[in-house]
Amino acid sequence: MSAPTAWLDEHFIAGNLALDFANTVYRRRPEPGLDLFTGTDAFATWLTRTRLLPGGEPAVTESALEHARALRALIWTVFDAHRDGQTIPATAFAGLLDTARCSTADLAIGSDGSLASRNAYGGLAAVALNAITLALDPPPQGVRACDRCGWFFIDSSRGRRRRWCSMKTCGNQAKVARYRSATRA
Ligand SMILES: [Zn+2]
Repeated sequence: MSAPTAWLDEHFIAGNLALDFANTVYRRRPEPGLDLFTGTDAFATWLTRTRLLPGGEPAVTESALEHARALRALIWTVFDAHRDGQTIPATAFAGLLDTARCSTADLAIGSDGSLASRNAYGGLAAVALNAITLALDPPPQGVRACDRCGWFFIDSSRGRRRRWCSMKTCGNQAKVARYRSATRA
C-alpha cells in the first residue's frame, strides 16, 4: 500500500473545487498517471483540506472512495468535451446530477450559496454541484487543460495565455525540453 498523498498548494491550482478534484492524479496525459487518491486516508485528507469533511466525522469508506473515483471520471468526460468545443455527453452529465441528488441529505446549502457537507458523500455532492455549475456557466475564457499533463484550470491570468498547470512543474519541464531540443539542433 502506498503512503497517503501529502496535499500541497500545488495540488490546488485549478481555481475551482471540481477541477481541483479532477486533478487528483499525477497526470491525465498522455495517459493517466498515479492516482493521488492512494486510499481512503488520502481522500479523507483531501476532503479535510478543502473543508468538505467536518472534523470528527467517521472515516471515509472504501465505497465513498469508489464513488469519488467514478465522479472524477465523469468530470474528466464533461470538461474534456467542453474544452474540445463539443456538446457535453448527456450520460456523463446525468452522472453528475445523480451524485448531487443522491447525497443532498448530507449537504447543507447556505443562503449565500456556500456548501457545508456532513460526511464524505456530502463532499462528493458538493464537488458534483460545483462541476454542474461550472459546466452550465463556464467563465468566458473557458476551462483549459495543461498542455503537458492535462490538469484542468481556469485561466484568470491577465493576458489569458496560461498554458501550464503550474510554472513550477510543467512550465519548467517544457522550458527544459525546449532548451534541450534547441541545443541538440
Ligand atoms: Zn501540467
